[in-house]
Amino acid sequence: VAPPAGWYTDPSDSAGLRWWDGQQWTTATRQLAPAPPTGPAILVPTQTSTTAVRADPHGCQVCGAGPARATKFRSVRGMIVLFVWRTHCGRWCRDCAEAKFREAQNFTLAWGWWGFFTLFFTPVVVGMNLYENSKAQGLAAPTNRRAAPLPKGGDLFHRPGIWIALVGLPLAFIVFGLGHWPS
Ligand SMILES: [Zn+2]
Repeated sequence: VAPPAGWYTDPSDSAGLRWWDGQQWTTATRQLAPAPPTGPAILVPTQTSTTAVRADPHGCQVCGAGPARATKFRSVRGMIVLFVWRTHCGRWCRDCAEAKFREAQNFTLAWGWWGFFTLFFTPVVVGMNLYENSKAQGLAAPTNRRAAPLPKGGDLFHRPGIWIALVGLPLAFIVFGLGHWPS
């Protein structure tokens, strides 16, 4: 005759208890908590919920937060007649997208101008980055974050790129122009 239903020492874990339903062992287990100085031992369920939080496959690939959006930023560096072009793709929440945007945009503003070809398509890249980021910033505030987002750092006006574009580039043109001034 089988013993009556109840909690018994777990045959697979002598430190815990397993529920015997009167016919067979079930999957329900409990751990014996360390006994407090006074009073009986406390039974603590090992599984409190069957609906564990799952990673959101549509969340930000950096911090896990939603909503997130597939976004692509570009950066470009000109070197006389050569250039280096990079794309930065990812599925990001608006905060992580802003961090990526600042990085790519600052780099492009600083380095994009210094080549014959890039002088013409750097403004296009700058515009595309602005457009991509405006869509990312249209996302709702991130929720369910599971990891730290990318650090945004200072905004573009606190980075060198935009000042190189606004001051350095005209200065370079003036110097170049003066050097070629017909005498
Ligand atoms: Zn994120």
